[in-house]
Amino acid sequence: MKILPGNSLGMLGGGQLGRMFTIAARTMGYEVIVLDPDRDSPAGRLATQHITADYADTAALDQLASGCAAVTTEFENVPAASLDSLASHCPVRPGARAVMITQDRIHEKTFLRDNGFPTAPFAVIHSLEDLHAAVETIGTPAILKVSRFGYDGKGQISLRASGDGDSAWASLEGEACVLEQRIPLDIEVSVVLARGLNGEVVTYPIAENIHANGILDVSIVPARIEPVLADKVTTMATQIANKLDYVGVMAVEFFISQGELLVNEIAPRPHNSGHYTLDACVTDQFEQQVRAVCGLPLGDTRLLSPVVMINMLGNIWHQGQTPDWSKLLDHPNIKLHLYGKKVARPGRKMGHYNVIATTVEAALALALETQSSLQQA
Ligand code: ATP
Ligand code: MG
Repeated sequence: MKILPGNSLGMLGGGQLGRMFTIAARTMGYEVIVLDPDRDSPAGRLATQHITADYADTAALDQLASGCAAVTTEFENVPAASLDSLASHCPVRPGARAVMITQDRIHEKTFLRDNGFPTAPFAVIHSLEDLHAAVETIGTPAILKVSRFGYDGKGQISLRASGDGDSAWASLEGEACVLEQRIPLDIEVSVVLARGLNGEVVTYPIAENIHANGILDVSIVPARIEPVLADKVTTMATQIANKLDYVGVMAVEFFISQGELLVNEIAPRPHNSGHYTLDACVTDQFEQQVRAVCGLPLGDTRLLSPVVMINMLGNIWHQGQTPDWSKLLDHPNIKLHLYGKKVARPGRKMGHYNVIATTVEAALALALETQSSLQQA
């Protein structure tokens, strides 16, 4: 059944992804109820209602479910039990199974391997003995990654030599991990897609991603890769969504290494590398999330223009000073998006901007020029 405007949609998580979903949903005439423990969350401030509570608070979950026609999430670390309990009251999209697999690197990588999707060589680590054995088989350089709650490169330690294992294990305090071979990267790309209730899949153009210190820095669209490879990326992401029996918007991050495609990870939600869609596609990824969650036909994902997205971290708030936004706003083809976060910290995602141009090269040149200007105090 289609959920039409006038209904309320529930959002688990109040960060920037929830905020942009809230903007899209309210633009389309839906009400949004956000559940987030932070009283001042970016999404909560724009929502119709903000329930300030923990994601495992049963009374709060009941309140959310009883007020909403469907619930979705912007945050993969919601307890699966919370999604299950919501699902007994109203549709939850994506469902608990898909979130459970993608919120845990051990489950995620095992799911990928079991279904024949290529990944970097990895091993599951529950003890120092496991790690010693894995270093032997996988070799170094490698990366030890915590299985749960890692993001933006947090909870990851590089192992340069086989002797580095003990201190890496100690610093992650014995948490369950995966050890992954460090792969020589030609390029990193990602694809955002949506899968509807009826199994229909639409994919967005592939983004070419540049990371800095483990955090997405620049997305270039369309990605500068061969069409044959682009087809493989899109096909593989679609197969992953089908295997997960996914409903909603998701993203798949890929490594391209010596011409070969490897799946890095899956995000069960809109993705930072899909923010370009806000200004460059017929339907942006947040409207698409509304459509998928509401059981509506999916929107056109067509790219209207080459685009480059630049992430803005708290680092450009030099000595706490707000950046000079005229450096961006003076350009007619730069679109500024700020998340309304009051405190800027190094590494914290504060906003992004999209540069629209007639060619990728022109968009990239202006994007990098404005980025370096913002980086100067
Ligand atoms: P996010 O969820 O924000 O994407 P994350 O903390 O889950 O980040 P990953 O995607 O695992 O982190 O890694 C972040 C980045 O670190 C990758 O995009 C890539 O640039 C680099 N990286 C991670 N794993 C490997 C690897 N095995 N080989 C080479 N580079 C890697
Ligand atoms: Mg990643």
